[in-house]
Amino acid sequence: MIVSRQKPIEDILSSLDGCRSVFLIGCTKCATVCKSGGEEEVWQMQEELLAAGIEVTGSLVIDEACHMLRVSRDLRSKQQMVDDADSILVMACGAGIQSVSAATSKKTVAALDSLFLGNIRRFGQFEQKCSLCGECILTQTAGICPVTACAKGLLNGPCGGMDNGRCETDQESPCAWAEIFERLQKTPQSCDLESYRPPKNHGKVPKPGKLKLPK
Ligand code: SF4
Ligand code: SF4
Repeated sequence: MIVSRQKPIEDILSSLDGCRSVFLIGCTKCATVCKSGGEEEVWQMQEELLAAGIEVTGSLVIDEACHMLRVSRDLRSKQQMVDDADSILVMACGAGIQSVSAATSKKTVAALDSLFLGNIRRFGQFEQKCSLCGECILTQTAGICPVTACAKGLLNGPCGGMDNGRCETDQESPCAWAEIFERLQKTPQSCDLESYRPPKNHGKVPKPGKLKLPK
């Protein structure tokens, strides 16, 4: 899931400077789980905007704000409320915000910062495990991603700063490469850590990413 966090209300109000009315959008998926843009947060935002003297013409919590067709359809169902607003405040990840900006000519304001693709450790605790590099090497690294878990993203580790299995950048954190070796010792897997792994060819994963499934 995409982990996101609400921007400080002062920043949001500053972005809305000059807007007297706003239409609010949240998302039922990741932003709801992160408690940054679900029903409850949209309701709280409405209260804060009203307290700041900004009218809320309406709100919508979309089932997957990153789904562009759904966003267009849902916005059409609230057309009058959207038309009445000076701008649209979106409480969804960057993908969701852009679904909205693509569906309307209104000023679109981002209420959240999108942080990372996260695993859920437990309720309210998220951890980045994958950096979406496009060329997964987990098979060679005992299922632990050094691109993400190593502070330097080293494909060949550990670095000289590793200290007793801890990372030189943060003594509280384990060295990802120490963990990889440890795990391989416990459960030998057919991978070759002796060989040098060349740098990733980022040209193979052009930006912006696109994928079209065959029909
Ligand atoms: S190597 Fe790491 S960053 Fe790349 S796809 Fe695999 S888990 Fe994600
Ligand atoms: S100590 Fe380990 S995790 Fe930290 S930067 Fe060096 S190789 Fe990466």
